Amino acid sequence: MTPHEHEFTCSDCGRAIPVTEAMLEATLRHGCPVCGATVEGGKATA
Ligand SMILES: [Zn+2]
Repeated sequence: MTPHEHEFTCSDCGRAIPVTEAMLEATLRHGCPVCGATVEGGKATA
């Protein structure tokens, strides 16, 4: 069982961040947790 089922990749800072689905939604809503860049949907991979 993996707690992090998605990986979000920031197109601005290039960081790949493992996230849960809830975290992914929050990241898409609030921006990259690393650099704060606005994140467009569809960049995350399952
Ligand atoms: Zn970033």
